[in-house]
Amino acid sequence: MTDQRDSRPGDPPGFSHVDASALLLALPDPLLLITADGAAQLNPAAQAALTGGTPEPSGQPDWAALFTPEAAAALRGPLEAALAGQTARASVVLRPGASVTLVTAAPAAPGPDGEACALLHLRQTPEPLSTALDFMDGLGLGVAVQGRDTRILQVNASATRILGLSEAQLAGRDSMDPRWRAIHPDGLPFPGDTHPSQVALRTGQTVRDVPMGIYRPGSDDWRWLHVTALPHTPPGQDTPEQVTTVFADVTDRYRMEADLRGSEQRFRSLVEATTQIVWDAHPDGTFLPPQPGWEAFTGQSEASYSYAGWLNAVHPEDRARTTECWQRATLTRQPYLVEHRLRRADGTYVPMQARAVPVIDDGGQIREWVGTHTDMSDVREAQQALIDLNADLERRVQARTLDLANVTRFSTLLLTAAGEGIFGLDLRGVTTFANPAAARMLGYSVERMIGAPQHALVHHHHADGREYPLHECPIHQTLQDGQTRRVEHDVMWHAQGHAVPVAYVVTPTHDEAGVVSGAVVMVQDTTERERAQAQLRDVIENLERSNQDLEQFAYVASHDLQEPLRTVGSYTELLVRRYQGQLDPRADQYLHYMQDAVIRMRSLIQDLLGFARVGRQETPLERTDLHALLRAAEQNVRATLEQGGGTLEWHAPHAVLGQPSLLLQLLTNLISNGLKFHAEDRAPRVQVHSELDGEFVHVTVQDNGIGIAPEYHTRVFDIFQRLHRRETFAGNGMGLAICRKIVEFHGGRIWLESTPGQGSTFHLTLPVAPTPQ
Ligand code: ADP
Repeated sequence: MTDQRDSRPGDPPGFSHVDASALLLALPDPLLLITADGAAQLNPAAQAALTGGTPEPSGQPDWAALFTPEAAAALRGPLEAALAGQTARASVVLRPGASVTLVTAAPAAPGPDGEACALLHLRQTPEPLSTALDFMDGLGLGVAVQGRDTRILQVNASATRILGLSEAQLAGRDSMDPRWRAIHPDGLPFPGDTHPSQVALRTGQTVRDVPMGIYRPGSDDWRWLHVTALPHTPPGQDTPEQVTTVFADVTDRYRMEADLRGSEQRFRSLVEATTQIVWDAHPDGTFLPPQPGWEAFTGQSEASYSYAGWLNAVHPEDRARTTECWQRATLTRQPYLVEHRLRRADGTYVPMQARAVPVIDDGGQIREWVGTHTDMSDVREAQQALIDLNADLERRVQARTLDLANVTRFSTLLLTAAGEGIFGLDLRGVTTFANPAAARMLGYSVERMIGAPQHALVHHHHADGREYPLHECPIHQTLQDGQTRRVEHDVMWHAQGHAVPVAYVVTPTHDEAGVVSGAVVMVQDTTERERAQAQLRDVIENLERSNQDLEQFAYVASHDLQEPLRTVGSYTELLVRRYQGQLDPRADQYLHYMQDAVIRMRSLIQDLLGFARVGRQETPLERTDLHALLRAAEQNVRATLEQGGGTLEWHAPHAVLGQPSLLLQLLTNLISNGLKFHAEDRAPRVQVHSELDGEFVHVTVQDNGIGIAPEYHTRVFDIFQRLHRRETFAGNGMGLAICRKIVEFHGGRIWLESTPGQGSTFHLTLPVAPTPQ
């Protein structure tokens, strides 16, 4: 430090009126007014710089106490010079490590008591090191100055920010401090003695751009640094005195690079997974080796694919198009996209999609083209399959549409053509459709019916004029419970006000979920049917009446004929007894004929009477055991059985409901016919069976006789119907007529089956007797 003593220049005339005290107080530089006895007064800047801002309690401290002893010693000379009226300067270091301060000591006006005064003006000059630190700070670079023992002497603001530690935390820390956590890019630890600063101190060589990961405790993260250590060896020394470590925070760049590496890897695996070939080309489009993917696929040698040779692997038909596309892409710098067939090493052509994109560098120039060839076989096959599938689907849809159209047309035809009236109803009972027959039947137009509440329009009253409440309406009930209903007798009301007798079926309709959605009603106008039924009833009544009349007549006739016949018979008998042998032989013959005729007539009349009597007796029907009846019948035909050597067998364990006497007559007739009409060559045999058939007992009477030709199977049941001459088989032809009448009187049926020459089977049904309680 050197003293500079200048002679005091005269006050410049222009400043004489300025109040110097105000100026001195406002000056940003530290300023001290010191009296000859050493007491100092400080302006605010001096207080900040020398006392940390707090004024001395005594008010006027001794000036020397404000400086370090070294600084005070350096200032003593200039101060004395100033008190003596001279301006003097000195450069001092106010605190260890601080930059150099230029101090100017100037004589001041004497104090109130006339004592000499001096002004000390402190001007801190920027230190080269701190300027450098600030400069680095401006670049965002961290700087730390470390001593020989690697203790940190000084850091700039960027260093504290990057390392996440305050200046105080960093001051004095050395490289071996265990609190450092540092790693290499591969994650391995970075020991303190290998830190660039250590190495630079040891070797005296600059260590440049060492990547280092360092843990930042404040934000609990890792930062990546590029560290350069510059050793400082003072002239004339062998070993470095200090080391300046400069570091840049490259974390963001690292991350970006890592991301880039990741995405590049992803891209590569994507390419490998989805494509067959990856290739690159020069900016001008030339294709040069090595292209391992291309070689492997096409089998072309480097020499044969270089430049335009690759085109030879493209199918001849696709070459022109491919060249054109590639030229256009390289000229316009637009992505290249073309499909062509590429010859594989085995000689087959594979459909390929070729794509390439230009890679543009920072200057906007094409650096290279990167291209891929993708095997499209699978895609093509899938596309074809899809096309086939679509076509098939289309066909099926068309067929289905046609079916539906047919069904719809058919339904419409059916609805239109149907003779029956057909309505559709929704859940509210509103008519949703009606066919022309329905409209015709009820005298409305189809349009009038659709949309109208069906019950209120055509079904509002019963046939007898009573009101028809909706809840009684079977159609409405079907809408409620989904049950199909058939109604035989009801009326619907014609538009002109008269009732139309109808029979109808209500069927519920369902939606896709199976829930009742409405109903379809098929209505038949029963006017005609009822008229026909009424006519039929009349005819039946008439027939029954005339039948009764006829029966009455037959009964009365046969009954009344008996009396005169008896008279004729008695007199014939008398004539025979008195005059037989007295007249000539012819007269005797005549008398014999008369007797025969009387006998026959009597038998005829009795048969007729028997026929007419069937059902006339009001005897109640009773449970009748077939087995017992057959035993009685057997008694009746005993004589015939004995004479003709015939047999009668039965198995008839059932009981029927009927008049026992009539039933006995029925079975006796059938059995005796079976015995009577027997074949010449075999003994007659009659078998009777019964079996249960619902509410009836089915009885069969089977014989092995002469049989009956099919054309007589019905006629034999008519009255007086006989198939043989009386001389061959006796009888009046009334037996089967009486049998039919008896069976029908009991509510049953009679019929026969027969094979002429083999035998006949008579079938009859009789009501089964209720099981006794
Ligand atoms: P008939 O009183 O003469 O027997 P039926 O009414 O009993 O009269 O029978 C009518 C005719 O049906 C008989 O004349 C006979 O020709 C024929 N016929 C009835 N039963 C039998 C039978 N079991 N086998 C063959 N013919 C029969």
